[in-house]
Amino acid sequence: MAKYIFVSGGVMSGIGKGVAVASIARILKSRGFKVCAVKIDPYINIDAGTMNPVEHGEVFVTEDGMETDQDIGNYERFLNENIPRENYMTTGSVYQAVINKERNLGYGGRCVQVVPDIPEEVIRRLKAASAKSRSDFTVVEIGGTVGEYENILFLEAARMMHLARPLDVIFILVSYLPVPKMIGEMKTKPTQHAVRAMNATGIQPDIIIARSSFPLDEPRKKRLSVFCNVSDRDIISAPDVSNIYEVPVNFEKDNLGAIILEKFRVKARKQDMREWRKLMSKVKGLKKVVKIGIVGKYFGSGSFQLADSYISVIEAIKHAAWNLWKTPEISWLDAEIYEKSTGVLGHLKKYGGVIVPGGFGNRGVEGKIKVIEFCRKNKIPFLGLCYGLQLAVVEFARNVCRLKGAHTTEVSSRTRYPVIDTLPEQLVNISEKKMGGSMRLGAYSCEILPGTCAQRAYKEKLVTERHRHRYEVNNNFRERLEKNGLVISGLNPERNLVEIIELKNHPFFLGTQFHPELKSRPERPHPLFREFLGAAILR
Ligand code: GLN
Repeated sequence: MAKYIFVSGGVMSGIGKGVAVASIARILKSRGFKVCAVKIDPYINIDAGTMNPVEHGEVFVTEDGMETDQDIGNYERFLNENIPRENYMTTGSVYQAVINKERNLGYGGRCVQVVPDIPEEVIRRLKAASAKSRSDFTVVEIGGTVGEYENILFLEAARMMHLARPLDVIFILVSYLPVPKMIGEMKTKPTQHAVRAMNATGIQPDIIIARSSFPLDEPRKKRLSVFCNVSDRDIISAPDVSNIYEVPVNFEKDNLGAIILEKFRVKARKQDMREWRKLMSKVKGLKKVVKIGIVGKYFGSGSFQLADSYISVIEAIKHAAWNLWKTPEISWLDAEIYEKSTGVLGHLKKYGGVIVPGGFGNRGVEGKIKVIEFCRKNKIPFLGLCYGLQLAVVEFARNVCRLKGAHTTEVSSRTRYPVIDTLPEQLVNISEKKMGGSMRLGAYSCEILPGTCAQRAYKEKLVTERHRHRYEVNNNFRERLEKNGLVISGLNPERNLVEIIELKNHPFFLGTQFHPELKSRPERPHPLFREFLGAAILR
């Protein structure tokens, strides 16, 4: 019988609930169980694709083309498995399905109600996701924090599942224990309130994961236990870590895997995390640094700098650097500063390599193009991801092919040289404003040209990579670009679309129309990132 573990958050967001869920899933997998991880986002948006990354973090794309929350990326990296689209849902998508069913007389003429019809649709989806992956355990992350109006219906679904099958459902609360500077003591009260809020929805947590800057001490564990009605053995200390991949190892120090299995009365199996632990101790011992600059624009949120918009890029850099026995030092470079003054370009020389990641619209574009030109001319290893490839083509067209004013039609619809242009099927989407979930999304195949840098990295003839774009290299300009030395080293065979570009006589200059970062895992670094990091280290 499939078992379900519902994980919700207490006190505040951003405390690493996604990493906790990914770690729980990893622990159970390492005990030989089949695990499925599901993310629920309590937004009206049908998927994460229409959300600004500064607000919501990176949009992750699954192999089968779903635009999801970044947590799905965490699940994939920790589980080292692809997560299918069924494992992601939003409030919007649940309501949409219920309304569509009602329009098709799917409810047989009866009154359709928020309760129970919305939670029932949620339950139907959870069971479908669990069945599809034939999992022993389905770990479900309910987004947001308990007590919020937005996620009540999902907690209601969880409660209903528990009511129907009390032995197959448990609840975990990931909560935060602040240590206010002026008090200098870890406080349990906000977590006590979070548990009360959970109780008000009819749910009692079985396990509490206590996130804090410090490990939990005995007096606080006792307090939480008494006031939250959870045995002190079932309260897991989860202090801050410098490396998120250490979290499963830390959880196991408090026996989380065995505790979960005991709650379900499932016989414990021997845990095997040898390889994972080995990687963690290798990372701890790394001393030499490689410096990478990321030139983007989705960094700022008021007075704060956030890295969430590019999380998969950052993780992919880490995986590749670790594989090559280096610790990466990543700097955020705001594309717009290069537009104001070209004098600042010189500081790019201090990086081993520079990445121009994905992006949309015109802000910062000219700055990125200047950066790319500088990397090309100064032989600084360069990796362009999606928009990064497109702008590298624009730069090459303008400055090498002498096509003055060449551009992408995303920014300049009237350019004389539209070297990057709309994918034909996208014209309809754009003119009819059908923007949600309509990009070229998910995995497509890419044929690799022999004798190129791409082939050296992949060592394969045919690969599949994940996409998220509306524009592409305009085939009418291909000959011109190639004549001037641009190497097209990856092509989508079905539609003859440019997938990878590179330059000869450069230590590493490569752009991809796809997003290789989405497929990088700690245990399986991406070949292109490895090749790029290799060049950066040599420099
Ligand atoms: N804006 C570009 C496009 O739509 C690139 C997208 C991206 O970088 N993901 O094609």
